Amino acid sequence: MANAYMGKILWVDLTAGKVEFQDIPDEIYKNYLSGYGLGAKIIWDRQKGDGIDPLGPDNILGFCSGILTGTSAFFSGRYMVVAKSPLTLGWGDANSGGSFSPEIKKCGVDAIFFTGISEKPVYLLVDGDTVELRDASGLWGLDAVEAEAKIYEELGSDKFKVAGIGVAGEKLSLISGIVNDKGRIAARSGLGAVMGSKKLKAVVLRGKSKVAVADKKQMVELNKKFLKHINSGTFLEKPFLGGMLNQVGRFVWKLKVFPRDDSAAWKAILKRYGTMGATGLAAGNGDSPVKNWKGVGVVDFPPQKMAYKLSGESVLAYQKKKYGCHSCPVQCGGIMEVKDGKYRYEETHKPEYETLSSFGSLILQDDLNAIFKVNHECNIHGIDSISAGAAVAFAMECYEQGILSQEEVGGLDLRWGNAEAAIKLLDMIIHREGIGDVLADGVKRAAQKIGKGSDQFAIHAGGQELPMHDPRYDPGFGAHYAVEPTPGRHTISSLSFAELLETDVRFFGKKKPMTTYSERYNYNNKGPIMAKSSTFVQVLNGAGLCMFGAQMGAKAPIFQYLNTATGWSLSDDEYMEIGERIQNLRIAYNVREGVTIKDTQINRRALGEPPLEKGPNAGITVDSEALCRSYYKEMGWDYDAGKPTEKKLEQLGLIDVKDKLYSAG
Ligand code: SF4
Repeated sequence: MANAYMGKILWVDLTAGKVEFQDIPDEIYKNYLSGYGLGAKIIWDRQKGDGIDPLGPDNILGFCSGILTGTSAFFSGRYMVVAKSPLTLGWGDANSGGSFSPEIKKCGVDAIFFTGISEKPVYLLVDGDTVELRDASGLWGLDAVEAEAKIYEELGSDKFKVAGIGVAGEKLSLISGIVNDKGRIAARSGLGAVMGSKKLKAVVLRGKSKVAVADKKQMVELNKKFLKHINSGTFLEKPFLGGMLNQVGRFVWKLKVFPRDDSAAWKAILKRYGTMGATGLAAGNGDSPVKNWKGVGVVDFPPQKMAYKLSGESVLAYQKKKYGCHSCPVQCGGIMEVKDGKYRYEETHKPEYETLSSFGSLILQDDLNAIFKVNHECNIHGIDSISAGAAVAFAMECYEQGILSQEEVGGLDLRWGNAEAAIKLLDMIIHREGIGDVLADGVKRAAQKIGKGSDQFAIHAGGQELPMHDPRYDPGFGAHYAVEPTPGRHTISSLSFAELLETDVRFFGKKKPMTTYSERYNYNNKGPIMAKSSTFVQVLNGAGLCMFGAQMGAKAPIFQYLNTATGWSLSDDEYMEIGERIQNLRIAYNVREGVTIKDTQINRRALGEPPLEKGPNAGITVDSEALCRSYYKEMGWDYDAGKPTEKKLEQLGLIDVKDKLYSAG
């Protein structure tokens, strides 16, 4: 038996109701790892034809573990969902942490792929050696958490791990995701709708296989050393100092001297607060978009008056216990207890920064209790909180501009900051009621239906709503949102992410800082660091690692983990070549489906057209095209043709991909 990976995948044909195991040769893992890599390879090879309907039977939906998942490697608990995206019509993927991913491996496989469409709602049960499709008619219409509880009842045990859809996925909302661990979501790319289209309510797993590791002793050593690094600098986590650090964003924008995004400080924020610890800072320094990307944090959403109500200690006050994913020493998540306010919860997940910003600064509302409500609703009904917040912000601007009347929005008073109206609109989106039906497919399609020039308020890249990181603050996002095969993603890279990953230390020997504030707006030299960071992140995704693990800095032993677990002896460069291969296959899939860089451009407002007049990002217009061209060049891709060059594909051994992309001339 192989080390680290199981060497097998499970196929489920929902039309025929049949299941089948397939052995996967070692070479595939050595070329693609698992996660997004294995997913991309399988879908590239097995999809029947090009230009398929993403909500039709030919779309292949995969749940992939990472190659390190199930080993003791820290941060190795993410599962990756892959399919053609109904939102962007190109490559789709999303990932989530929690405890679901290791269970895939325990079931003796590295991934489970679904084809076809079931006649009636079903769920897949894998319980040891038993693999069966079960009737889920009684679960259809339930939210994902209710459905999980009912499945436990039916199976007489809560020891199963479940990933499923809520109402949003059932109703084929193109901004819906897949829910695991009672409210974590693989949210992006609209993959909840793919699951809904297949009438697949849930994937329910309980396995007993063990994951072999080549050198267990060395894994323990790597963890020990890494833990020492993770726990260094803990003085920053004292409440007072941590609080001080978190308040820095109130003032720093005035100085116009931004510190490098330091991995030590980020580590401290993550450990004490989780991502929500950055909400106040980001609203002050210009990272958070404000008022549907036309506002300014320090003017419209002043950190001291508003943003800090949604950040740091204000949120932490509700944390009942810390919570984390499989094999994670940081535990950045939290279970909250909300005993005051209109919306009360015995237990609900801690809101992440993205949700606090998309339903905070983006719509100018600062009621934390309302955020607990929207976060909970997004989580249980399975909808992407970034896209949902963006849809609400879009509707608010249409309302402000007289494009949508009060009658057209179901009588809601959609003025900026109206938390109650935002909550009601979210409910309409989830249930596809009234204007919610239009918004449930994302802002690009909503603008196409509404017309009247509303497309200028639809902030997306290639159909996917932009995350809560402003390219005017970090121009790297101004390229990565567009060049990424799943456009509008913040989890691949940017300049600040490159700093947190310490890409320049790890790969360039830190010859000179490549991303300092004064350097940030030099658009001509960022290709190398952007390409290196995004390639590295593909290695992480193939390994099943949480990005925050690698953001602990260059000392994170990523390649060492991989060699120690698998028994391989690949060099860092060889792993980076695998990352490159994964990224090339993801973008090649887009080309095959007819999506190129021309289709994934970012709404110009988010790039500073027109420029903001005030605040830290005043006067900035990002030269996205220069950055994109620089990235393409470094990746060996042809910007004008919108695809990888033949030479690059040959170099990576992707001969069949080259033949496909170049066969028609
Ligand atoms: S850092 Fe947070 S998201 Fe990442 S593995 Fe740990 S708990 Fe999960």
